[in-house]
Amino acid sequence: MLRLTDLKLPLDHPAEALPNAIRAKLGIAPAALRSFTVFRRGYDARKRGAIALIYTLDVEVADEAALLARHADDRHVQPTPDTSYKFVAQAPAKLEHRPIVIGFGPCGIFAALILAQSGFRPIVLERGKAVRERTKDTWDLWRKRNLHPDSNVQFGEGGAGTFSDGKLHSQIRDTQHHGRKVLAEFVKAGAPEEILYVSKPHIGTFRLVTMVENLRASIEALGGEIRFDQRVDDLLVETDAQGERQVRGVRLADGGELRSDHVVLALGHSARDTFEMLHARGVYLEAKPFSIGFRVEHPQSLIDRARFGPQVGHPILGAADYKLVHHGKDGRSVYSFCMCPGGTVVAATSEPGRVVTNGMSQYSRNERNANAALVCDIRPADYAPYGEGPLAGIALQRHWETHAFHMGGGDYSAPGQRVGDFLAGRASRAVGEVQPSYKPGVHLTDLSTALPDYAVAAIRAAIPAFDRQIRGYALPDAMLTGVETRTSSPVRIRRNDDDLQSLNTHGLYPAGEGAGYAGGILSAAVDGIRVAEAVALSITGERTES
Ligand code: FAD
Repeated sequence: MLRLTDLKLPLDHPAEALPNAIRAKLGIAPAALRSFTVFRRGYDARKRGAIALIYTLDVEVADEAALLARHADDRHVQPTPDTSYKFVAQAPAKLEHRPIVIGFGPCGIFAALILAQSGFRPIVLERGKAVRERTKDTWDLWRKRNLHPDSNVQFGEGGAGTFSDGKLHSQIRDTQHHGRKVLAEFVKAGAPEEILYVSKPHIGTFRLVTMVENLRASIEALGGEIRFDQRVDDLLVETDAQGERQVRGVRLADGGELRSDHVVLALGHSARDTFEMLHARGVYLEAKPFSIGFRVEHPQSLIDRARFGPQVGHPILGAADYKLVHHGKDGRSVYSFCMCPGGTVVAATSEPGRVVTNGMSQYSRNERNANAALVCDIRPADYAPYGEGPLAGIALQRHWETHAFHMGGGDYSAPGQRVGDFLAGRASRAVGEVQPSYKPGVHLTDLSTALPDYAVAAIRAAIPAFDRQIRGYALPDAMLTGVETRTSSPVRIRRNDDDLQSLNTHGLYPAGEGAGYAGGILSAAVDGIRVAEAVALSITGERTES
């Protein structure tokens, strides 16, 4: 099989244009092309009015070796790589201790799935509830302002990305094609087939709920167990005479203990109490950079027009997204993040008395507003006014989330402001054309005190710069709500590069977003696979490769 990359065709090309283009590219007669499949389809929208589709294709031809030789200098004609998943180890017949996975977000799900598929019958401990009950609790905050601290947007079956846009692209280096395994398992669990080939796949929140249940059923069918309402509150660690630390199990919130020498920490970025526990137990953690800012909402039609021009509404294109970066003179960067076309802004706190924003969409992406985080990068040196040590970033997050809660009126409404007023430095008194979508509500105010001064200044400088890239971005009626503080983990739980175990605690496998090794659903799932492989190799006594 040959892989052809970067084959460009106009957006509205007829079906036969694709085989014709393949034949022309390879210089072969019609009969020599036996079959082809689309591996990836993206688009290039840089030229408004002339959007091109860009294909990666897998092609079966009559004389592959001769064609490869003829195109030896063309990097767009190569043998198709083998992207099938290969298990690294199988569980021994007598398994002494089943591995434990803490957390059932994308990272924990895929760690558990791979372990289950390799016969290790993992036990997953998840502090939140099964996804249907969790959905009710999450809506209880959005509709009635009741927060459930262990069952919300951040915590519960499916993890943080369950109520999301379900975007599945990632920029990680994935030489072993683990991302392909994740997408294939998602399709088996009910995701649309197209996620296998469109360049920026998304699933939307409704389907994610069913998929998560199906993935759970697959793990259980293979002897794994998923236990809900099981918050891990402590680690059992033994230290030998040489000072070497080995994990021996976990202690649960109800006092129960579970023994295992292999514990995966797939906690997500909001498990602040668990980070505190790990720090107190001496597990090596360090502060890590992340970003803070606001959510911004525009009419989706404005973004569509700016990005697609006269080709707006084409079914292949769907609702337009964007990705923007502005590097300020003071060295701060402001960028758009987690953009949700045709979606809504959601209340994403997991702690009482705090307000946090995030975004989600349905698969159809047909709500009126486009939303995205508009965030400024911050580094450990910025955390000093709020605390010290590896947890200082959490202290910063808590400070501004509490402040946002009070600015919003103390009832989980988010503080909000029109972009025009934010740029002019005056409080908003009324919303305009853009109705903010955040539930349970938005309290209009002046956001200039909602974040540290440097972040407010950086975002003020970035909006006009973004307006030069997307006309109308600085629309005075566009809405800002805040605060957006959970962009990635404020800590890194450092691990060795070779066996993926904690720097100072053997048998402990920090993984996914919370440990600082992923950012997003796909990369967290891929990291879950890597860590599951490391656990499998450790249990069977084989070595891990980095
Ligand atoms: P998480 O998904 O956070 O899962 C961690 C799990 O661990 C949680 O279920 C938690 O309850 C559990 N846990 C924590 N502490 C304990 C404990 N002590 N004991 C037991 N269980 C515990 N990413 C994308 O790629 N695309 C998107 O469109 C997207 N949209 C998002 C929208 C929203 C509203 C949010 C909040 C996030 C979004 N993200 C998105 C980010 C994405 O969800 C995360 O990057 C991803 O979920 C990280 O996966 P994870 O498994 O590492 O952690």
